[in-house]
Amino acid sequence: MRAVEIIMKKRSGGENTFQELQFLVNGYVNGEIPDYQVSAWLMAVFFKGMTPSETASLTRVMIDSGDVLDLSGLKGPLVDKHSTGGVGDKISLILAPIAAACGLQVPMMSGRALGHTGGTLDKLDSISGYTTALDLETIRRGLSTVGFIMTGQSEKIVPADRLMYSLRDVSATVESVPLITASILSKKFAEGAQALIFDVKFGNGAFMKDLESARVLAHSLVEAGRALGRKVVALITDMNVPLGVMTGNFLEVEESIRCLEGKGPADLMELTYRQAAWMLVAGGVCKTAEEGTAKARSCVRDGSALKKFWDNVELQGGRVPELKAQLGLRRAPYFQDLLAPVGGWIIGMNSLEIGLAGVALGVGRNRKEDLVLPDVGFEFFKKTGDRVNPGDSLVRIWSQDEVRLTQALNRLAPAYEFGHNPPAPRILIREEITAL
Ligand code: URA
Repeated sequence: MRAVEIIMKKRSGGENTFQELQFLVNGYVNGEIPDYQVSAWLMAVFFKGMTPSETASLTRVMIDSGDVLDLSGLKGPLVDKHSTGGVGDKISLILAPIAAACGLQVPMMSGRALGHTGGTLDKLDSISGYTTALDLETIRRGLSTVGFIMTGQSEKIVPADRLMYSLRDVSATVESVPLITASILSKKFAEGAQALIFDVKFGNGAFMKDLESARVLAHSLVEAGRALGRKVVALITDMNVPLGVMTGNFLEVEESIRCLEGKGPADLMELTYRQAAWMLVAGGVCKTAEEGTAKARSCVRDGSALKKFWDNVELQGGRVPELKAQLGLRRAPYFQDLLAPVGGWIIGMNSLEIGLAGVALGVGRNRKEDLVLPDVGFEFFKKTGDRVNPGDSLVRIWSQDEVRLTQALNRLAPAYEFGHNPPAPRILIREEITAL
């Protein structure tokens, strides 16, 4: 087999076989096939696409390029979720304890903030003592005792993705649906999940800007997951407005605790309960999403989900009394409110700009090496659909210094759009695609 022939086949719109993909991916990971040939192949995939079975084969080959987490012997069902990323998206922190309280085991492996979207690991790192680098023994113990763990990814999981993602980044081939599908699915399946729920976001705060492109990605994820014999559900959800009322690392941990106490904002809880519901259906605990929603709600109402949260903090080394004492108090030293310049209705928010204002504060990072700050962020008092009077506080900005406070304020002010009439009510969950 020769790499050049595999590239030529894809360049002319042909379908690469499992063996060809194995030859190319393994050859690249072993250093036998150079960057320039894999870049050429990635660009050919970018333009010619892949069939669902080809995408599934690529995913399989990528999974086999490294270790697969050994979760054998755990009682399960092992169900995880993945979000394509958003602003104020702290659903994982609320969802995992709910799912565990309802009887699932959730091996949740997450990423860090990059660009305007937040990262679960950065949020968790704001808890004093909490570690997000777990070894296999702690993962197994956490799953069998608490029912969920929150960890970063080991270097040994899907090395092909690490190498190919870096190459995609510099060869303008990131935005390819089959490549995104194989990249996400390979990591999730190598991490031991038997079933997966995807929150595929669209809108101005999402990776996918419009509903149609989110739909294409959602179908691709579901099809490839089905071809690999897994249960997969994808929800297509609106990300045009930051989720919940807090954006920031510690701020989002705090808001997640409030949600688990039963005091969560409506948008956040609607999405969390629906994802929990599908996790329970995919895991075989409930028959319908409606039954799953009722069960998830009852685990919040009776306090069992909140207890799981605290058990997990303890398991992963977090200092529970310190965290409890910081709630409502731990904030960066400088703050200022953005005031409504006019009266009327808030008819839109630019979540991308809000996310970038967060990056200016240190909530997220522009480059992988950047440090994030735990105590900075935003607390929203008014969001899309709210009525305001001139001078009302829209959002409070918490900053580590005055320079960044001003930068964030300048970026945030044009992100609000006002009108004389209320906007149409937002439909948060647009579609659900299931392969169960
Ligand atoms: N997230 C991933 O893990 N991979 C991609 O290719 C894109 C987003």
